[in-house]
Amino acid sequence: MPTVGQLRLLVESGQAETVQYPDWYRPSKCRERANQCVLQGRHPFGFALGPEAETCRTCKHRYKTWSRSCRGWNKCHQIQATAGPATDVVLKWRACERWEARDEEA
Ligand code: SF4
Repeated sequence: MPTVGQLRLLVESGQAETVQYPDWYRPSKCRERANQCVLQGRHPFGFALGPEAETCRTCKHRYKTWSRSCRGWNKCHQIQATAGPATDVVLKWRACERWEARDEEA
């Protein structure tokens, strides 16, 4: 049974293989494209990786959208946001090449 940070993937032979992801990323079966990007050494949104010590939490391009029920989601100005989870930013993700420092913590 895969643990946090692992995902079982079907490989070409039709067999399932458990793949280990980096600590900053938690794979999900509904984020297949993002999973592939991370396995190829990129940010989940497809950008190249940025500064190792930084995360999406500290980036000025991250912003929060709110629903009527006051639930908030983090999104990124560098990609076209959708109303679904595919474009949600996870705060602990490693920064991408477009990372810029936030002016203040939010
Ligand atoms: S620009 Fe990159 S580091 Fe900044 S929030 Fe978007 S995806 Fe994260």
